[in-house]
Amino acid sequence: MTGEGVRKARSAEPAAPGSAVWLREGLLELASALYPGLRSVVVREWSDAVRLRGPEPVGERSLVLVAVGGGDRPVFLAMDEVVDAFAADGWTVSRWEDGSGEERVAAGREDFEVRVHAGRGPGLVTFTGWTPVVFTGRSLRQPRFTLSTVGGGVLCADCHGWGACLDCEGTGRSRRAGGWGRCWCIAGNAGPGSCVECGGKGCVTAEGTSQRDERHGVSDVDGSGGADAFHRPPIEEGHGSHLDAFLDVAHRSCACGEFRCLWRNALVEAGDHLVSRFFGTCQGCAARRAYAFALPFQRLPGPPDPPGPPEPPPCPHCAGVPVPLVGGLHLPGSAMMRALEAGSVAACDSGCQVSPDDPNWRCPSCGHAWRDADARRRDRILRAILADVPTS
Ligand SMILES: [Zn+2]
Ligand SMILES: [Zn+2]
Ligand SMILES: [Zn+2]
Ligand SMILES: [Zn+2]
Repeated sequence: MTGEGVRKARSAEPAAPGSAVWLREGLLELASALYPGLRSVVVREWSDAVRLRGPEPVGERSLVLVAVGGGDRPVFLAMDEVVDAFAADGWTVSRWEDGSGEERVAAGREDFEVRVHAGRGPGLVTFTGWTPVVFTGRSLRQPRFTLSTVGGGVLCADCHGWGACLDCEGTGRSRRAGGWGRCWCIAGNAGPGSCVECGGKGCVTAEGTSQRDERHGVSDVDGSGGADAFHRPPIEEGHGSHLDAFLDVAHRSCACGEFRCLWRNALVEAGDHLVSRFFGTCQGCAARRAYAFALPFQRLPGPPDPPGPPEPPPCPHCAGVPVPLVGGLHLPGSAMMRALEAGSVAACDSGCQVSPDDPNWRCPSCGHAWRDADARRRDRILRAILADVPTS
């Protein structure tokens, strides 16, 4: 933070007009292509204002929430394809599962970001995307968070998500009578130029809303975990599908007036009906919010078998089936050794030195070795081979 300040070092590219439209259309297109036959809808569009010291916003970002649902036919929505589709479209993607049965994907491309969340049980995948903050006056760097993009906490009320001391705008120097001097934030624990209140993080974790509690909320989908409104919200009627219930929930506001909330969801069987549940922490006041809806009963599908590995690329010389070339085997694992012995993988000629241009496939029929650009495909096939190697 020191020396960087809030001001952007180089002049900002003018944001493309319509970037919010680009994001919305891109997410809708991707969602419809990934899940043909299901409903992909724009649930909500909004913006986050960004302020410095004064009350007037200095910029804003646009956000869009797209959801895909199985309608009246709940289906498990695979996330492998989501990861591949974003990667193929030039996004940097990471994926994780938090232990509660929910899957998340984060994708970034320049200053655009998307969070994908698949709830517990079949039925609903949400895509929350946001544009870079576009500034109305002078160029500023991107703030750490805006109101909607804080995960697991709320925006710091002192620095409005910048993580920087706004008296000196992160420079550590402030104007005094007769010139510039050291800003008072120099003495803060987080270091010169950082917001003292949040320690430079830009957000504060709300009391009593630990990640563990959050997880508990969704894992405990039968509602037996507590008597409070978070664990046992009243069961409402009136919706025919998980997606319809979400469209309703996403337009409700917290008691504090804020609607922004990172919603998580679960769809479960409960006797003679389904229960569609939504959980979240208010982005404004950190209150825990929860809703539950009774849906008409139907048997929920089980999780799908994980998709098999893709086909290897055919040998360009003889169209034979090649094996992956492996290298860099300083300490080859035993599965790798057995795969090498079985001939289901082959060792690089270059031994342990592997450069990015080295061949990554070899054809056992004609001996031709070549490099295929699709490294992800090769990695997936290699993982499948290693997982399949007999143990004896
Ligand atoms: Zn702060
Ligand atoms: Zn300062
Ligand atoms: Zn609230
Ligand atoms: Zn060949």
